[in-house]
Amino acid sequence: MCGIIAAATEKSVGKLLVQGLYKMEYRGYDSAGVALHQIDDIAHLRSLGKVKKLESKMVKEKPKGKIGIAHTRWATHGKPSEENAHPHVSNNRVFIVHNGIIENYVALKEQLIKKGYQFNSQTDSELIAHQLDFFLNQGSEMLEAMSLLKEKLEGAYAVAAIDLKNESHFYLMRNKSPLLLGQSDSGMFAASDPLALADLTNEFVFLEDGDVAEVSAKEYKILDKNQKRAIRKITTIDVSSEAMGKNGYRHFMEKEIYEQPTAILNTLDGRIGGEDVLENIFGEGSNELLSKVERIQIVAAGTSLHAGRVAANWFSAIANLPTQIDYASEYRYKNPYVDKNTLLLTISQSGETADTLGALRYAKERSYLGSLTICNVPTSSLARESDFVLLTNAGPEIGVASTKAFTTQLTALMLLTLSLAKARNLNPRLRGRVVGALRALPEKITESLELKT
Ligand code: GLU
Repeated sequence: MCGIIAAATEKSVGKLLVQGLYKMEYRGYDSAGVALHQIDDIAHLRSLGKVKKLESKMVKEKPKGKIGIAHTRWATHGKPSEENAHPHVSNNRVFIVHNGIIENYVALKEQLIKKGYQFNSQTDSELIAHQLDFFLNQGSEMLEAMSLLKEKLEGAYAVAAIDLKNESHFYLMRNKSPLLLGQSDSGMFAASDPLALADLTNEFVFLEDGDVAEVSAKEYKILDKNQKRAIRKITTIDVSSEAMGKNGYRHFMEKEIYEQPTAILNTLDGRIGGEDVLENIFGEGSNELLSKVERIQIVAAGTSLHAGRVAANWFSAIANLPTQIDYASEYRYKNPYVDKNTLLLTISQSGETADTLGALRYAKERSYLGSLTICNVPTSSLARESDFVLLTNAGPEIGVASTKAFTTQLTALMLLTLSLAKARNLNPRLRGRVVGALRALPEKITESLELKT
């Protein structure tokens, strides 16, 4: 899943959209595109490869528009190509960008072909544009069309759309794929990643599953999964472009390796005191929960799964607790047996790993003692939907190979190990020694980094 950005302001938004796409480049992508409302028509530019190529096209063609949507694609259905790049369009009227996967796209596509719609791509996304166009032609307003569409779609999606017949709004819908609104005095924005809006705003509104929204330069309206007007809280996140720069390092991975001492200091901050870990560091009431734990189920993917494997040894050696570990992508399909007093532990840097989130939602229907997540993004779905959270506070990790995200996960998992041992009255002296070692860790890492010649 890649990147979406949308904007509505009183000035032309083309540059700002491209800047947003640049800020999401770190996520990887194969193509990019933009659609800008020019009142008489909608400028539609796409290119295979880098955002730079798209930008060159824009410099040449000079599209203008105060409303626009843009996308970086990571192909899931249909090869990387210009035809498959987003935005997709229906009848030269409805333009959409989509992150995610529409599971039932074959059936929906067939229905639309029977209604006379022609498909120009192999993606699962294009049908979204045609289906919206169909509902608009039947007399619906766009918000209503989106509400009708969401009844049909199965799968994960974050969608932004514009309509030729409406020059003042863009539209959003989301299910199981991140999408947030950003508000400022100069306009309204939306993106799948808050970093895309760095320098534009630090006031965000997170959309929830089943939400649809109508956004103009001045205001927005959200309807929730029951089509009721929703007022969502505004979250302030400091996403400065400083965190996005390389600050003199050759690449982000190098920068993030050198950020480890500070990142680990931030993971430990306010969580250890004297010779022990502090109470309730996972949230109010978490110590009571930890004292009841008799078994741990870890669900994670990739690097986070490796962190979990290390932690399983600690849980056993220091807190006398057995652990079961599963790949997030497999966990749901094995009909897991849940022993009594089992804690579900999820680990994810972004807090949006789709399989891990799917596992948490599945586990909520089972008889777990409770759920706890270790993740890096406070506003993520995992952080919001778990009973308890320990944030790693590592700051954005842009490098694809994990560095500080992994070492801060290990630090957080050691804090969990200590908390479990404490809740079970185990190993007080060892706990004291480990706390001392954790305190010394940032300095030791700095010393190791200084060995570089
Ligand atoms: N499934 C869509 C496609 O293949 C969207 C992929 C994405 O999230 O970038 O075009």
